[in-house]
Amino acid sequence: MSESIKAIGGINENSLNEYEKFIRTFIPENLTQEQLPTFLSEKRSELRVKYGMPDRQPVLDGKETLEEYHEKLLLLAGEKEIGVVSDFEKFVQKHHLPEGANACFGDDTDYKIHVKKDFNPNDVPNVKSLEHELVHALQYKNEPGMPIEQKEFEAYLVADGLDDIFKNPNLRDIFFSLIISSVDGYKKSAISTEK
Ligand SMILES: [Zn+2]
Repeated sequence: MSESIKAIGGINENSLNEYEKFIRTFIPENLTQEQLPTFLSEKRSELRVKYGMPDRQPVLDGKETLEEYHEKLLLLAGEKEIGVVSDFEKFVQKHHLPEGANACFGDDTDYKIHVKKDFNPNDVPNVKSLEHELVHALQYKNEPGMPIEQKEFEAYLVADGLDDIFKNPNLRDIFFSLIISSVDGYKKSAISTEK
């Protein structure tokens, strides 16, 4: 387990401050809390270019449906030879992985993204999960040595914002708590696989 994962092991409440501690290594030293949302927004745009993600503005403008956007994600997966299969429940059971998610990426088993049997391409959380796992698949392909904290930071940032989360400060905590709970989940799975 890496030192920084250990360092955040004591987190038990979701707040901007806790989140900031976690992402401190990815953000400039002198950035204030007020500047953080803008910084993250810009970082997201950068990362979306890096991973070749389709433009989501037409969806936000109501010119494209979420389902059409989802088709573009599948197209990108296909281009990169990343399989997407609807067997999440079976996969999780077979490999004794934690439940309670929408999707996962089988990095060292089959290099496929596993989504739920009843995956709904018109549902924002479902599509965001696919996008998140797609980032992990691309990281695995292009930068396998990237630290897990950075992998999660990038995957969450890329996949968020479909619902314009940063325009509403009250929603920010949801984003942060998602990050924290994800880190917690990884911590637990890291412990359970340690021999
Ligand atoms: Zn992840």
